[in-house]
Amino acid sequence: MTIEWDAGRLDSDLDGVGFDTLAVRAGQHRSPEGEHSEAIYPTSSYVFRTAADAAARFAGEVPGNVYSRYTNPTVRAFEERIAALEGAEQAVATSSGMSAILAMVMSLCSGGDHVLVSRSVFGSTISLFEKYLKRFGVQVDYVPLADLQAWSAAFKPNTKLLFVESPSNPLAELVDIGALAEIAHGKGALLAVDNCFCTPALQQPLKLGADIVMHSATKYIDGQGRSMGGVVAGKAELMKEVVGFLRTAGPTLSPFNAWIFLKGLETLRVRMQAHCASSQLLAEWLEQQPGIEHVYYSGLPSHPQHELAKRQQSGFGAVVSFEVKGGKDAAWRFIDATRVISITTNLGDTKTTIAHPATTSHGRLSPAERASAGIRDNLIRVAVGLEDIVDLKADLARGLAVL
Ligand SMILES: *Cc1c(COP(=O)(O)O)cnc(C)c1O
Repeated sequence: MTIEWDAGRLDSDLDGVGFDTLAVRAGQHRSPEGEHSEAIYPTSSYVFRTAADAAARFAGEVPGNVYSRYTNPTVRAFEERIAALEGAEQAVATSSGMSAILAMVMSLCSGGDHVLVSRSVFGSTISLFEKYLKRFGVQVDYVPLADLQAWSAAFKPNTKLLFVESPSNPLAELVDIGALAEIAHGKGALLAVDNCFCTPALQQPLKLGADIVMHSATKYIDGQGRSMGGVVAGKAELMKEVVGFLRTAGPTLSPFNAWIFLKGLETLRVRMQAHCASSQLLAEWLEQQPGIEHVYYSGLPSHPQHELAKRQQSGFGAVVSFEVKGGKDAAWRFIDATRVISITTNLGDTKTTIAHPATTSHGRLSPAERASAGIRDNLIRVAVGLEDIVDLKADLARGLAVL
């Protein structure tokens, strides 16, 4: 559906414009009211001019909204903007990042299919596969993210989908997305990337060769910790299945949250640049502190995949993890000594957060599983926000002082 903007402007006026222009303007279909900021449409249903109009819209013969579980103008604006930023033919919004992953797997896989998942994915993603999807006959194996040979070796004749989070949380491991896409396609499988940590401002997996990309919009896309949501994006042919599942099962996005994400996208690139700049400074500074054993940040030349990160991403992200000298007690003392940074496991917020992965996000793993994931008891994860860098350093220095 093409609605004329005020003064006769059309969507096609945005053909060929840059990322920042798309982030601010893509997807807006201005109503005849001429609103400058995008409108919120809190409506569950839509009226039709005639019975014939209703029939034609239900039959999909004429475009238009029918019911907000299917489409909503504010949600659609967010979907179109994200599609533009990821370079996707189509995107569909979901009620959370987890429902984005659920929708993707439910629509692309059937019982008996085999899925390969990178070992260090988000905890609820593992629970979704282990506790629920396996019950419906989806077979799942886990592969160390960076090891391309291990990926090749893990295929079975029924492998349908590869699912990765790159960079990983909390140790900032990467996989060469282009190379993994080639491996997947060579075996007739699809590659899906959870792009939550980079956002399209730093990494565009579809352009690297992935087939499908998803986000927890709850994180950097909102960027200010206000609302839950997610999105799946990819080729129209694949998205048709995902859209069908979401329309039927119902975990769609509310127009209010879609509006928050639209506003979030408008500042995404400048926020990500600021997040990355502060993270780089903190990582370099932490690496020089005597109380710190190791810093995990792909912007550091000491990171084993620094070159890949430079090639694949336009920034190194905002998660800085480090091991302190000592064990769990030292890590906890460090965390408790901070006064400004929030003790929480969330990330992707203007507010910097600090967490102890071994006893929070990775607390349900057995000690052996934690060891194989590289999560030691002295590991601390900081998701760097947008406060003054001097204040963040001063706060982390409080932690260093009590080691
Ligand atoms: C938070 C997160 C999710 C889940 O998103 P929700 O919006 O919390 O449902 C999935 N993947 C990654 C990498 C995340 O950080």
